[in-house]
Amino acid sequence: MRRVALIDYGKLELQNHWEGVGQLRLGTVKVNVSACSVCGSDIALFKGNRSFTEERYFGHEFSGVVVDAGDGANGIAPGTRVASELSRTCGQCWNCLNGLQNYCKSMNDALLPGGFAEETLVLNRPDYSFISSLPQEIDDVTATLLEPTNCAYRIARQANIIPGDHVVIFGMGTMGLIAARILRGMGADIVIGVDNNNARLEKIRQLNLLDVVDSNAPDWLEQIKEMVGDKGADIVIEATGVVSVLKRAFEAVRPGGKIVVASVYHELAGTLELTPIMRKELTMVGAKGPFPHRKTDGSSASLETLVNIQDDLKKLITVYDYKDALRAFEDMMSGDAIKAVVKFN
Ligand SMILES: [Zn+2]
Ligand SMILES: [Zn+2]
Repeated sequence: MRRVALIDYGKLELQNHWEGVGQLRLGTVKVNVSACSVCGSDIALFKGNRSFTEERYFGHEFSGVVVDAGDGANGIAPGTRVASELSRTCGQCWNCLNGLQNYCKSMNDALLPGGFAEETLVLNRPDYSFISSLPQEIDDVTATLLEPTNCAYRIARQANIIPGDHVVIFGMGTMGLIAARILRGMGADIVIGVDNNNARLEKIRQLNLLDVVDSNAPDWLEQIKEMVGDKGADIVIEATGVVSVLKRAFEAVRPGGKIVVASVYHELAGTLELTPIMRKELTMVGAKGPFPHRKTDGSSASLETLVNIQDDLKKLITVYDYKDALRAFEDMMSGDAIKAVVKFN
């Protein structure tokens, strides 16, 4: 068995003779991982912005095949193709009963050791599951985007736009880009992406994904207002995790507008001026994905979304062989790759 192990901050090790996950645990299935994509939170862990003690798994955006199901594992047969996402929670705890299913359990309990390994255990109990079975229309590499699509879907639900809204998204990582695509489908009239990474901006322009503004440009705000009008955007999504960008969000949003915060901040807010929240009567709302949004027939709303928009999302992906996993991380950090997917086979 092979795995990409994070043995210290900034240090990935390819373990070609890893012993594997061993025995199944109660309520888990064993998944032979086919591909795993690099998430911003994996990079935060790699850089040491998140701690090993907080996060016990490595890689949570993966696809593969179930090869074994243990006692108490709910209704998923060996041979089933799956991808990771929060697909089921208990429905009984206070969080679930109050519409906060994304707080039901910690992902730490769901994945061991995570998707950067050739095999991983995944919780799939009647009261909690972190996988969905895949339809034929989607390939293993694209299916690794199910979990980020789930998170982006949560952002879109929290944004709760009305058709015709103007939206500005700070942070053109995968989640920001997928959210842009979903919001346009929901009827947003204008969606503008803002980022400071030149390589990434160039790629988005080349792919003609959406209008982008370079936040390094001195007239970045004027550029936005030229498109959305003088008052500012109806909805601003903050997906960078950089505190100073919140100040820009206050500037770009219109009076009475809404800011969706979809980031983890690794710094304190310091001297950030908060008065615009009152002066502009802003609504601020968080989006902590993933969330088990289900359709009325019980199927996954984010999976259906992913299948529908997959042709656009494929353009975001760069595939790396297992042995090039380190380069996948480096290219994500430099912006040379928008979404790096590490493939095991
Ligand atoms: Zn993720
Ligand atoms: Zn629950």
